[in-house]
Order: sequence, then C-alpha cells, then structure tokens
Amino acid sequence: MRALVKAEPAPGLELKDVATPEPGPDEVRIRVRLAAVCGTDLHIYDWDEWAQSTIEPPLVVGHEFMGIVDAVGDRVASVAVGDRVAGEGHIVCGTCRNCRAGRHHLCRATQGIGVNRSGAFADYIVLPEENVYSLPNSVPDEIAAILDPLGNAVHTALSFDLVGEDVLITGAGPIGQMAVAICRHAGARHVVITDPVEARLDRAWKMGATRAVTPGAGVIDAVMSELEMVEGFDVGLEMSGHPDGLADMIDSMIHGGKVALLGLFGNDAHVDLNQVILKGLTLKGIYGREMFETWHKALAMLGTGLDVTPTITHRFPLDRFEDAFSVLSSGEASKVVLEVSAR
Ligand SMILES: [Zn+2]
Repeated sequence: MRALVKAEPAPGLELKDVATPEPGPDEVRIRVRLAAVCGTDLHIYDWDEWAQSTIEPPLVVGHEFMGIVDAVGDRVASVAVGDRVAGEGHIVCGTCRNCRAGRHHLCRATQGIGVNRSGAFADYIVLPEENVYSLPNSVPDEIAAILDPLGNAVHTALSFDLVGEDVLITGAGPIGQMAVAICRHAGARHVVITDPVEARLDRAWKMGATRAVTPGAGVIDAVMSELEMVEGFDVGLEMSGHPDGLADMIDSMIHGGKVALLGLFGNDAHVDLNQVILKGLTLKGIYGREMFETWHKALAMLGTGLDVTPTITHRFPLDRFEDAFSVLSSGEASKVVLEVSAR
C-alpha cells in the first residue's frame, strides 16, 4: 500500500510502498478515504526538537482520518466490513488505574497513531476495535476526517458550564475556531477570541465569535467595556500555547473563573500563580478526547446544527502532500484535507 513515511531521522516525508497491515483477532482494518494534516504532523515533517525526541523512524505518520472498514478480526463484533468510520488515535493500555476506572483519556501509557505507532496517511490503517467509531450518515466525509481536532475543541470547551457565560479563547488556529462554534452552540453569551493572524480571525468571525481581535495592550479591556462586561471572563480556553496568550487570559478572568489549557507551550511558559491563587481560579489541563463521551457530544452537536466547515480551507490528493504541508506551514491554511482513496 501507499503510505506517507518518516523514513529517516531528517526533515521531510516520503510517499512509499509499504506492507499492507493485517488485523489481529481484536482489530479492524480501515481503508482510509480522507485524512487531515495537524500541527503535530508539521513538527514531524520539520523534524524539530520535539519530533527528534519522540518519533522513531521509519514511521507512517498521520492521525486524523475517516474511511471504510475493509477487514475485521475474528473476535470483532461491533463493526463490519463496509461500515463508514473514524478512529480515536489514542490507544490506551487498559490496565492502569485510570483505564480500569474508565478514565481512558488519563491513561499514563497512551500510544498515538502516527506518533508512536503506524498512522493514517496510508491506504490502510489497523486499529483496535474499541478505537473505531461508526459514523452517522448525516456527517459528511470532510467533517468526519477532522473529528480528532474537533474532539480536542469539544473536550476543552465543554470542560466547564458555558450556558450564559462569557468565554475568552486565546489562539484562533483550527481548534480555537471550532471552539467558538461549540461555545455558541452550547449557549455561551459572549465568545471573544484573540490571535495575531488576520485570516484566522476572519474564520473565527464566521464561526460566530462576538469579537475576534488582534491581541495587544489594553485590547481585551476595551472589548470588555464595549460588551459592558465588568468583572471578567467566566471561562477561558487557552489554545495558543503562547505565554502572552496565557498571561492575557489570567489577567482577564473573573474571580472564581475557570480556565482549560489545551495549547502546548515551549520552555517559556509563565503563569502568575499569585493571580491564580488570589482570584481563586481553576486551571485544567486537556489532552486528547474523553473516550468516548467527547465523540458522542461532538456527533450529537454536529447533528443539531454545529457547523465547523469554515475551518477546512484546502484539499489535496495524497500524492500532493508537499503542497499540503507547505500551505499549512505558510500559515495560509487552517485545516488541510488529504484525499487518500477515491472509493
Ligand atoms: Zn492506561
């Protein structure tokens, strides 16, 4: 089969012929139809410090995808050949304390497809049965291909009660953009989002932001006063991974406010802990998706009018992967979809 492979410990990726994987007794093989490129894939392509310390070549990359079940192991009962599915890319150990308590998203030994094991930028991928998620007909292929990052946004946004609340989102990448639509859908009052890139703010407006603004001194205070907000934001969603984004957020929270942190920081993260303490803030780290409550919520909201299509900006066949990575890397794109198989 064709697969996009990190073949050597060096920048770049190669489209290669590799062996088609066979499913074990509890596994499902999926013919990948559409996949989407994530920031993580860009790190792997660029072979930055994180990638060098995490990835062991050769590795088939990619973790956001949807497709059609192509073969199932003897013991698989919940899906059948021909089913249209997406896949949860975090494979958990099943035996640690959290796994045994049903808190799979907190597994201490999670393996990620396209990071620690074979990924989805390939004609076929094999996953454990429990990681395969059947899709309702109402969800189009393109949206099904981005359920992984949508799930990140859903998990982060729904961490705290949003009904009637004022939400500040720092960072308007694809997940920040989708979080705007989710907060709207879930009944927030004002949803304010910040990002230095104009094109991202445009898409955040399309998603229903109350205000989408370039961050800077006094900007959030000015927005609050326009919106007649006096005490600060009730809920914060940190999606920039930038120290200034986090600092702005901590400054702008109401006493007793709640902050969910999704963006990963470099070595320069700094939190004014005295503000956290004196304001009585709650900080919650978010990784991945709750398995599978987040999936249920995401699909339920998509079925009741949540629209995240503005975040998909580009589509390329798999063999044009260099173009896909280059538009993403230029900052021009938001979500980039790869057409793996036409069938
Ligand atoms: Zn575990």
